[in-house]
Amino acid sequence: MSYQPDENGFYGEFGGAYIPEILYKCVEELREVYLPIIQSPEFKKEYHALLQDYAGRPSPLYYARRMSEKYGCRLYLKREDCNHTGAHKINNAIGQILLARKMGKTRVIAETGAGQHGVATATVCALMDMECEVFMGKTDMERQHTNVERMRMLGAKVTPVTTGNMTLSDACSAAIRDWCCHPSDTYYLVGSTMGPHPFPDLVARLQSVISEELKWQLQEKVGRDYPDCLIACIGGGSNAAGTIYHYMDDERVKIVLAEAGGHGIDSGYTAATIHRGKVGILHGSKMLVMQTPDGQIEEAFSISAGLDYPGVGPMHCHMARSGRTKVLAVNDDEAIRAGYELTRMEGIIPAIESAHAVAALGKLQFRPDDVVVLTVSGRGDKDVETYIRNKEMAKEYGNF
Ligand SMILES: *Cc1c(COP(=O)(O)O)cnc(C)c1O
Repeated sequence: MSYQPDENGFYGEFGGAYIPEILYKCVEELREVYLPIIQSPEFKKEYHALLQDYAGRPSPLYYARRMSEKYGCRLYLKREDCNHTGAHKINNAIGQILLARKMGKTRVIAETGAGQHGVATATVCALMDMECEVFMGKTDMERQHTNVERMRMLGAKVTPVTTGNMTLSDACSAAIRDWCCHPSDTYYLVGSTMGPHPFPDLVARLQSVISEELKWQLQEKVGRDYPDCLIACIGGGSNAAGTIYHYMDDERVKIVLAEAGGHGIDSGYTAATIHRGKVGILHGSKMLVMQTPDGQIEEAFSISAGLDYPGVGPMHCHMARSGRTKVLAVNDDEAIRAGYELTRMEGIIPAIESAHAVAALGKLQFRPDDVVVLTVSGRGDKDVETYIRNKEMAKEYGNF
């Protein structure tokens, strides 16, 4: 059984390309060229050179000794937090900017929630001397002000989005609207495994460098090229897709994904899309979407701006529905506590998004010799204020 999309971009019943007429030509153009380009030796050479010398790959695979003892397994952390700009997002941004250049595009647009994808996009645009405009909800611009300043410093125009809840979902809609107005010269650099086909597949392939490295890193460290269990957090699904890509069809490998429970999946304040979502179409793709009975999009809620999205990429909808992945909902307080735990036990301050994956450890049972790989998708520098503001959620660590 394979979890790859069919030629129309469907993963089971999910995916596809539900786009307005005006975008048909440019999405079709992208669909025709993306595989020949990213599989060409010339692209691969440039992509891997930048990943190594610019982004700092391979990212370390670190044996977390104290956490291993606590959870009774052999825990390895895949350190995407060590990448340039602080998260896995740069892997995708580097790949897509090379693709945009090969396609002759002169202007790049992107959506961003927490600002991490906006920063990664602004970074590669500075590197390649491309015009860059990032759409960001006004609420998120206030919550993540430092990232707004980083993008501006990098030369990007940051456009506030004031429709809807003024968060990530609205920023996506604004980027798509802009793309409709400039379909020929503009490249839409999508930040996760979402959007119309071929974006989910393109982003998954560009992030698959994570599991490509895991294969040889595990061989070196544990003597076999696969783990017993993979754990990652899931918003749109890109760091999870990269982590599992080369293990999807390997049934020896258990896959556990942590989505954002917010205040709890039944609280009305949640972003646990796989638990709560119903089949619907959002931002060009059929996926699980949190919606009211009459199909209006429901606002997502999570303490982490990067997981605050009412949908989830089609590949993950399909894998979760077919039972290949186990999806846990991790609430805000559990994520904050796990973030403090990793900080105090291993000296690594994770992004709050990544802390959701760490919290999954406490909900699982392991055998002592199980090799568990957990992807730390990003670093927590951007989240220090949120950790401090919520330190009462982690009383055992918060006495400072
Ligand atoms: C953006 C982001 C995420 C969520 O996005 P995915 O596409 O699901 O990976 C998770 N962690 C960090 C650090 C992020 O910046």
